[in-house]
Amino acid sequence: MPTVVHDPSQINFEKAGKNHYHVAFHLDGTWGYTLLPLTVINGTRPDEAAKPPPGVVAFGGTHGNEFEGQVSVKRLCRDLDPAALTGRVILIPQLSPSACTANRRESPLDGVNMNRAFPGKARGTISYRIADFVKRFVFPYVHVVLDIHSGGMEGCFPVCTSFHPIPDPVQRQEIELVARLFDPPFIMLYSSAMASGLLTDEAEAEGKVTIGGEFGYGESVDIDGTRHAYEGIKNVLRHYGHLKGEPALVRPPGSKGSRLVDASRIDDYVPAPRDGVWEPVVHLGGRVESGALVGRLHDFSDHSSAPLEIRSAKSGWVIMRHFRAMVKKGVTLYVVADEAQA
Ligand SMILES: [Zn+2]
Repeated sequence: MPTVVHDPSQINFEKAGKNHYHVAFHLDGTWGYTLLPLTVINGTRPDEAAKPPPGVVAFGGTHGNEFEGQVSVKRLCRDLDPAALTGRVILIPQLSPSACTANRRESPLDGVNMNRAFPGKARGTISYRIADFVKRFVFPYVHVVLDIHSGGMEGCFPVCTSFHPIPDPVQRQEIELVARLFDPPFIMLYSSAMASGLLTDEAEAEGKVTIGGEFGYGESVDIDGTRHAYEGIKNVLRHYGHLKGEPALVRPPGSKGSRLVDASRIDDYVPAPRDGVWEPVVHLGGRVESGALVGRLHDFSDHSSAPLEIRSAKSGWVIMRHFRAMVKKGVTLYVVADEAQA
């Protein structure tokens, strides 16, 4: 069983080998704890390189109802062998344990979305305290931050890795290179204006090589998405020299290279103009031209009524669309992304 630590200073981030921890965060209203799963691996394989590889952290379960990251990071907790590894890898398969066990996007304990809680608060509610722990105790040990998401019940996406527009060209270039190691069909440049307090916002601002991504949707464990997440993290470890060998393709040989697309403008995130039943007509990752039909919104209060046709304001690729059929006015209905400028 993992070692329970009540004080983060009891975690030995330097200890050789593999160590599993439960980091105890006291509950806000009752006696008892949220036990955050954390595995620290310091490889024992002799390092031939002059410089040890940079620290890497991988997160799953930042949102509780997204399972591809939870499953792939948990598997790596067992599969990575410290004898075959050099340098440090930190794995957190369920960053919001309460949200994960409840199969919810937000924690049921404080109603907080973990991916809006950064940089956290040392004396805040449980989600803020976990974010604060990540910022103060985990980030100092790593250069590379991987946060594995999927669409939950809100949106569906083709498998993609993602990052925000990054002003520093050196950081930007390394991030894109690492995003490609997951061999996804798409890499999405996404808007910083949609929300704030993201784990990735915080890591990017600290200058870290930070990758987000959407590896499935619909509260399932997507086969392809999980393979991209698991093999992608291993490719990152191969790229930096933690593991021996060259990064490997995840998709079948002959697949097209990952397409870098730009959804960095907030007006790319199109809200539903009214309630309705959403009938998409374009496949995820499909190409649309400006003015093309993306889907129809149906009003069943009059079954003889014409549907409201939703047409794309621009040409590009459908990188996200609303997942559920039932749509409420104002939710993001679809995102069409342009080809990004290299
Ligand atoms: Zn998410």
